[in-house]
Amino acid sequence: MSEPSQANKDKMWAYARKYAEKSGTAFHPEPGVTETVVTGLARHIEEVGRPLCPCNFYPDPKAEAKLRRWICACDEMQQYKYCHCLLFVTPEGLPITEYLPEDHEGRQAYGLVKDPTPDKGRAVARVLAKQQAGEADRA
Ligand code: SF4
Repeated sequence: MSEPSQANKDKMWAYARKYAEKSGTAFHPEPGVTETVVTGLARHIEEVGRPLCPCNFYPDPKAEAKLRRWICACDEMQQYKYCHCLLFVTPEGLPITEYLPEDHEGRQAYGLVKDPTPDKGRAVARVLAKQQAGEADRA
């Protein structure tokens, strides 16, 4: 696997720091975990032009990059605040599973991990909740 440029690694480090702050999550206590994921995101910028999640296998990464669902921050992060790569986690290094459906593999793997900062993150879930509240008001 090729090493991505320092410029793209710096870009993804800046992004990761900013998104962790915005979502109220932490980096993993083992720095190598974060380093590996950030490097994988930077590599995908070079290979497919977008920071595609580095923790999945894609039969066609370029086609996948055209879809929004696995561009970091992915749909699961935006909706459930769950990062299966362990890039955005609790201070103890666990992925937040509180908002996942109970039959989701993350819930089965990690059990119930509460969100220590429920006032932050989950942008998509908040928009959907507002829309649903608006629809209920109009009904
Ligand atoms: S699981 Fe989602 S939030 Fe976590 S690194 Fe992958 S794309 Fe980003």
